[in-house]
Amino acid sequence: MVENSVEKTPNVELNWARIGEKWRKRWAEDKIFETDPESHKKKYFLTVAYPYPNSPQHVGHGRTYTLADVHARYKRMNNYNVLFPMGFHYTGTPIVSMSQRIKSNDLELIETFQQIYKIPSEIISSFKEPKRIASYFHEEIRQGMNEMGYSIDWRREFTTIDNGYSKFISWQFRNLKKNGLIVQGSHPVGWCPQDQNPVSQHDTVGDIEPELIEYVLVKFKFEEQYVIPTATLRPETIFGVTNLWINPDIKYVIAQVNKEKWIITKEAARKLEFLNASVSIISEIDGSDLIGKSVYDETRRQLVPMFPASFVDPNNGTGIVMSVPAHSPYDYQALVDLKKDDNILKQFAITVNIVPIKIIQTDAFPSNDSSPAESIVTRYSIRDQNDPKLEEATNKLYSEEFHNGVLLPNIDQIGNLSVIKARETIREKIINEEIGTTMYELKNVVKCRCGTPCVVKLLTNQWFINYGDDNWKKLAYELIENMEILPEEIRQEFTNVIDWLKERACARKSGLGTKLPWDSEWIIESLADSVIYMAYYLLSRHISNNLDLQKNEDMVLAVNLNDSFFDYVLLGKNDRDLVAKDSKISIQLLEKIRNEFLYFYPVDSRHSGRDLVPNHLAFFIFNHAAIFPRDKWPKQIVVNGSVLMEGKKMSKSLGNIIPLRKAIDEYGADSVRLTMLASAEILQDSDFSIDLVKGIKSKLFEIHRTINTNMNIFTTSRNSLDYDDDLEDVWISSRLQHVILETTSAIEKFRIREALHNILYLMDNDLQWYEKRKLAKNKSISNNYLKEFFETRIKLLSPFAPYFCEEIWEIMGNHSYISLAQWPEINQSRISLISEDNERLIQGMIFDIHKITKVTKIVPKRILIYTASTIKSKLYRKLLDRIQSQATSNFGEIMKEFVNDNEVKDLVKLNPDLVKKMINDILSESVEVRERRMKIDSFDEAIPLQDGISLLVNEIENDHLEVNIYSEDNNDKYDPKQKSKFARPYKPAIYIE
Ligand SMILES: [Zn+2]
Repeated sequence: MVENSVEKTPNVELNWARIGEKWRKRWAEDKIFETDPESHKKKYFLTVAYPYPNSPQHVGHGRTYTLADVHARYKRMNNYNVLFPMGFHYTGTPIVSMSQRIKSNDLELIETFQQIYKIPSEIISSFKEPKRIASYFHEEIRQGMNEMGYSIDWRREFTTIDNGYSKFISWQFRNLKKNGLIVQGSHPVGWCPQDQNPVSQHDTVGDIEPELIEYVLVKFKFEEQYVIPTATLRPETIFGVTNLWINPDIKYVIAQVNKEKWIITKEAARKLEFLNASVSIISEIDGSDLIGKSVYDETRRQLVPMFPASFVDPNNGTGIVMSVPAHSPYDYQALVDLKKDDNILKQFAITVNIVPIKIIQTDAFPSNDSSPAESIVTRYSIRDQNDPKLEEATNKLYSEEFHNGVLLPNIDQIGNLSVIKARETIREKIINEEIGTTMYELKNVVKCRCGTPCVVKLLTNQWFINYGDDNWKKLAYELIENMEILPEEIRQEFTNVIDWLKERACARKSGLGTKLPWDSEWIIESLADSVIYMAYYLLSRHISNNLDLQKNEDMVLAVNLNDSFFDYVLLGKNDRDLVAKDSKISIQLLEKIRNEFLYFYPVDSRHSGRDLVPNHLAFFIFNHAAIFPRDKWPKQIVVNGSVLMEGKKMSKSLGNIIPLRKAIDEYGADSVRLTMLASAEILQDSDFSIDLVKGIKSKLFEIHRTINTNMNIFTTSRNSLDYDDDLEDVWISSRLQHVILETTSAIEKFRIREALHNILYLMDNDLQWYEKRKLAKNKSISNNYLKEFFETRIKLLSPFAPYFCEEIWEIMGNHSYISLAQWPEINQSRISLISEDNERLIQGMIFDIHKITKVTKIVPKRILIYTASTIKSKLYRKLLDRIQSQATSNFGEIMKEFVNDNEVKDLVKLNPDLVKKMINDILSESVEVRERRMKIDSFDEAIPLQDGISLLVNEIENDHLEVNIYSEDNNDKYDPKQKSKFARPYKPAIYIE
């Protein structure tokens, strides 16, 4: 059958904007990405973390969505009924705090909006209203996603402040509470003093998750009436304290803390207030006034002196540090430095004769070693307390003592205990006997989005999700063990998070979102209402938040939704007829919704950036394990790294932020997509560079041009095109099968960079060689092989560059969507093992001859090529066998064995050097090549060499060139210089006249 020819000649120049618009429109008109259940088809349900519409998208935002879209498109071409939906996350503070920054006339933010994103001033001023921000950026982001060509089913879009969504979240929370997973109590949280709200990753500048640490405060008595508390993570080392460190250059305060008078820094006093201590500052005291005096240690009932140290940070703990020189390299080194500093010693009139007190024993430090800190400081050749290696030494010693340390037998109460047990025992004793207390602090520096530095607050009556629940953790482990994680190397990170997650604040007093169903003062926070919403995509298109649609029988009204509806649809509980009646919908509609959920759930793949592993993705695992039965647990998580711009982090101060829509406008969506994906494997940070995006754009032009110049193959029927079986035809066809195989397996494992490298670059190399070979034979490449090559290439490329490929597909004369085409399948009968060596032999021959003529400057008139003798081939085969099966390549061993082998012993004895060379020949080949050659029974090198003569003649540019090929075995061969004896299998000998 003759295929329809293309009516119009294609544009030589591609207009990206036009192509994008054209295909977007067609896809939408034909609804090809709207997915409903189809019982005869396998489903694939994939989701990406939905965006916050509080700012526009830049290219950095596009990577995760683009990866998910590639995944969706790939699965669609593999016959799956793919559902890829999208929603918008309005919950919490991000949108509200953005609007507050506009209200307070935040110039930095306003400039970013104006200069980078070109948002008109009147729109920016409307942003004082949070919902205006949300709706503006919601539209902006949706447009961007559309322009990127994402194959999203937009019918299912929702926001997290929709009434229906709130009903769903209320159901989720009542469910968790019923299972005892929501608790109320006092717990420390990261906190913004300005907003009076807990903060988590989504609320902070730079999306930093606040990390909390809990110190033990050891109280030392000072002058009868005062307490000097020191903060430590190693309370057991109290038995090794020799002195305290005070910063002489800072002012401390005397503060009434509950019923005691404490000497601490101002910063510490403020922190204690947030931890619900009653704090009032009485007076100030200079650090230098304390130095030289002593405090009383109640644990050991003895006095301890206070020494000066400038390294003491007023922001850290209480601003006073206990010194344990036997076990802390910093303390040890500080004492050494202090002893040498005569000025300081004189200034404070102090003498320092401290002997470190060793209390912990490990195998790494022998028992006669009086101070492990001293030993390690010596071992690391530490100069002084500013030596950067001190940090490493400290980590090393702390870790060694934590894991392997045992307290010395003579230590009161904790002698012979492991460090881990001793720490717990002493902590309890200190707290019970009120020798000390505890204090929370942020481990990292975190700023709220409003600009205020965050603190730790001890919240009372706060609602928590109890991720510390042991049974729940067990379920979470079970879920993750049965889940595929890509790339697999990140699995440990997930396990670690599940390990350490504890209670987590789940509600706030302000922000957007759903009220806690049983306590309406609280609003459920953003990392708690975004954990099982993937299920809501299957309901959303059937739920109307709009009362006007009361008459619409295809929809359930959000106001009529109740827990029994969700219990029925999502968990299969309750009586169908009663649920339908309660929700005021028909039984048919209820069944339809239930079946849609049953068909699409569980989530087959969840995509997200790596930064969401410790929170969102972990909560996603926990909450699915808590709410859904095992057959509805998600099956896969795919995690990707972030995007750099020209090797640097994107930031306003570097001026290197490119808005996504601007990039699409300038380079076309396909080039932008390819650039995000081609520069790095999935977990690495990818690097978006202008050179790369330009390079990729011109690569696409080149592919277009090549296809254009060979248009006749698409306008001619398959029957009238050549289907030769020359060596190069068999080869190109076999190569194509390799590319399909390798690209497919790369995509399956999300080695996207590798897949793109195959499609964009390696395929070009193959094509160029094929063209050369054909041209040398004066044959046209306009044949069926080329047609298959192009068709396959465009199909392989289409998940990555969908607009470009749709356009080319149409230019090729197709009337269907490539987005819906069948992924290329491997044709086993086209795989020719021998073809690879055929072409390599020709390439090698031409390369060698060029090399010889270059070195000898001979203009060749006659070229003689000698292939190895049969006996050499036999030997080669035996060596290959031996190396591959026994995995030995030892020359001596092989020789010993082969001198007794009747078939080859004569040759081996005569020419051991040849054996050595042939072993090296084999070892220099990849395992893949060796395995291939094992499968080939016999290989006549003369056939490809003969076939390659035409190309050789072309390359040498001498039409009168005479080329003769002889086997070494041929007795009539012309061999004036006895060259044939140098021939080895796959390495013919050459002589040029
Ligand atoms: Zn704030």
